[in-house]
Amino acid sequence: MSQCERSALQDARVYLEWIRRQGLLVPRDELEAAMASGASSPGGAGAQDASGLPSAPAGSSSPQAPARFAALRAEVEACRKCALGYQRKNAVFGVGNPKARLVFIGEAPGATEDEQGKPFVGAAGNLLTRELKKHGVERDEVFICNILKCRPPDNRDPLPEEIAACEPYLLEQLRLIGPQMLCGLGRFAVMTLLKRQITITKIRGTWEHYEGLPLFVCLHPAAVLHQPVNRPLFEADIKTLCEAYKRGAP
Ligand code: SF4
Repeated sequence: MSQCERSALQDARVYLEWIRRQGLLVPRDELEAAMASGASSPGGAGAQDASGLPSAPAGSSSPQAPARFAALRAEVEACRKCALGYQRKNAVFGVGNPKARLVFIGEAPGATEDEQGKPFVGAAGNLLTRELKKHGVERDEVFICNILKCRPPDNRDPLPEEIAACEPYLLEQLRLIGPQMLCGLGRFAVMTLLKRQITITKIRGTWEHYEGLPLFVCLHPAAVLHQPVNRPLFEADIKTLCEAYKRGAP
């Protein structure tokens, strides 16, 4: 079994476990049909309309969503739409609950993420995980990803053409996950999502919008590690975010 197939199976297992935890029942034949059609149909994640976005809006409630999510992961892991696809060790699709109510979005994978194929690992990821846990939110109930799925060399800022090539994957992830709210981590991620210049220290802790979804602006945990003076701000923001997440609204 290839790495892509293992990842797709893992996504399906996570989703089924989520369904089981929610006490929901999905008829087995319906689920199998969805898995089969989503994995092989030309209307799967690989199909695109003229705008470059996937054409069939599966939506988070569609029975095809788990298969579309797995197929999207496989597409990202094989992607060479920009030059970064030829330089990465691993594409970093994202981790967590494929039906999460809260999605964290960072800028791009760093060296450790590139090595491991997972976002927000290492000290910065651990800090985020710890702060969430402090407020009763487990990392595996949210979804964590980046705008760019491949690491820019030497951690340089992503180029406009790389963002243009990769952002449709993020949009499709959000369409399939169907979250209630988003959290942008760090200046560059938030600036890219909002498509305007920002001063992160001025708008951190406030709500903006991305694609019609509430977007909470937060410092990047790595920036907090580099400048510990910002730690109380980061902790306060994660607390605000977790409270909003628990009540289901900003
Ligand atoms: S950064 Fe995005 S668009 Fe570029 S190769 Fe990686 S997955 Fe494809």
